[in-house]
Amino acid sequence: MAAATEETFEFKTEIKELMHLIVHTLYTHKEIFLRELLSNASDALSKVQFEALTNPDIYDKDQVLDVKLSIDEKKKLLTIEDTGVGMTREQLISQIGTIAHSGTKRFMKELSENEKKDEKDKKSLPDLIGQFGVGFYSAFMVADKVSIETKSMEREAPAVAWESDGTGSYVVKESERRKRGTSITLHLKKEAKEFLEESRIKSLVEQYSNYLPFPVLLGEEEVNKHEALWRKSKKDLKEEDYNEFYKQVSTDWQEPLHYEHFSGDAPVQFSSVLYIPKRAPMEYYGQDPHEHGLKLYVKRVFIQDDCKALLPRFLRFLRGVVESEDLPLNVSRESIQNDANITKINKVLTKKFLSALKKMSTKKEELYLDFWKQFGRFIKEGVHSETTYKDKLLPLVRFYTSKHTDNPTGSFADYIANKKEDQKAVYYAVGEKVEQLRRSPHLELFQRNDIEVILLTEPMDDMIFNQIGTHEDMKLINVESGDLELPEDIKKEVEEVEVSDDLTRLKDKVKEVLSDHVNEVRFSKALSDSPCKFYNASGGISHNVQKLMFNMDGMSGFPLKRDLELNPEHSYVKALAGRLDNDSVNDQIKMLFHMASLLEGTLEDPQELAGLVLPLLR
Ligand code: ADP
Repeated sequence: MAAATEETFEFKTEIKELMHLIVHTLYTHKEIFLRELLSNASDALSKVQFEALTNPDIYDKDQVLDVKLSIDEKKKLLTIEDTGVGMTREQLISQIGTIAHSGTKRFMKELSENEKKDEKDKKSLPDLIGQFGVGFYSAFMVADKVSIETKSMEREAPAVAWESDGTGSYVVKESERRKRGTSITLHLKKEAKEFLEESRIKSLVEQYSNYLPFPVLLGEEEVNKHEALWRKSKKDLKEEDYNEFYKQVSTDWQEPLHYEHFSGDAPVQFSSVLYIPKRAPMEYYGQDPHEHGLKLYVKRVFIQDDCKALLPRFLRFLRGVVESEDLPLNVSRESIQNDANITKINKVLTKKFLSALKKMSTKKEELYLDFWKQFGRFIKEGVHSETTYKDKLLPLVRFYTSKHTDNPTGSFADYIANKKEDQKAVYYAVGEKVEQLRRSPHLELFQRNDIEVILLTEPMDDMIFNQIGTHEDMKLINVESGDLELPEDIKKEVEEVEVSDDLTRLKDKVKEVLSDHVNEVRFSKALSDSPCKFYNASGGISHNVQKLMFNMDGMSGFPLKRDLELNPEHSYVKALAGRLDNDSVNDQIKMLFHMASLLEGTLEDPQELAGLVLPLLR
């Protein structure tokens, strides 16, 4: 093997793009490079601390665990040196030269998508960087050359050096380093002179890295507190302390939205600080390649960075720390999953957190609304996936309704308090946008009778409401259902009505012409202004859920028919009935079908509709 020789490697294209971007786009907050590098150093120290618990054979076992910062003003060098796990040659190439995880590509993709977003939805670049962990490369914001020397904890692995100017390539060669760990030297750019000042470095460590679990030394002086915030008493801590600690545990750039400091003694001892970030993680179909868990400490020793077993999956957006005295130090990643005490902590923590949310929802409504807008879908996911917590979660659910149209501030409790006296069901409508739903023909009957309707706009909502079934003895019913279980005095408004012979002939004709698209056709008085709407004659699973299920089953080609309700009082319907012998009536009946889909904001057969409309435009 040519380990001893000097070798030059090209950065992968995506890394080049990434570095270009970091160097040229990130004008503000360049100082975060220090937080990123210190966080890597601390991770490396935690890893070696954990390894040492079970492996007596690691290199340099008795080395003090710390980070040393040193400044060479003359040569304009800033060095960050840790005594952590270090890296072998292969690790150095695979982890630094390429990005080990698939994060970069996603980062770049997210970045270009982010550019297209409305200003208010845009994430800041440091947010994105924090989230995707492109940490190390941030060094090139302030340095025109970066050198790494590293010696792995693996006894046999020779020390290696790495150097790059961050433009296209890097060099790997042998290193003289004997001490275990990694030393990263930044050859600072002219405009980054400020990072040669001790006072500047000191204040940055205090600001961003105060609660790192290992000492950070500048010369002889320890510049961080490195104490366990979660073990302190709440009354000795200020909001700033919590916020500062958050930035360190989360590598988030922003302040958290909220935090909770909990501890418990029975049935198992633990203390923890949980944070709700300001923004929800970027997930694709409920999956996030960077999904975090909580940091786990046992008897003051760091065990795991992202322990997912500490919370149910629907709370995966939470960040923070848990420490327990009641776990063995040698818990492995595998055994954590099944550890009875971890399960107990999970239960207590979840219960405490959900009651804290409940309290927030009544005492701090504005904050709760912010929370809901970002994380509501996780709570709804919990309703769907964790039956144990369903009763605790349902009161937390918020939605738009026909009476709460500006913000999702409606709740089940509120809905039930406002229901009509003899109303036995909770009604909901599902669509893409609140504005569309409000004007949907499905709502005409309800608005006329002053019955509130919940307006749902996320694809899974329908599925979730379908699954909830009933709440507080009230059945949840989709407004498109053919069996609405309405209060007695309103019932007659949706019953099929007797119509004239012309209209009956129209109905038969509609059935015949639309036989590919439509099952049942009926006349009722449910509609006030619209000529027609779809309904779900069987009253079973809604059209939307059927579509979701069919797509999931890969049966998207299957024809999903609908049922059509006509307004006997509408002028268009009446006119159609009067010209059934006309040549063009078939096309006009087809238009009726498309009208129903346009009015509810869906498009069942866009090509056919285009074919019908085009001749009219000539
Ligand atoms: P992240 O820290 O999000 O994984 P980075 O680009 O900052 O991304 O680092 C990439 C990888 O390089 C790390 O996951 C780690 O394996 C390795 N690494 C970085 N810094 C150090 C260090 N000081 N000691 C040991 N390994 C390190």
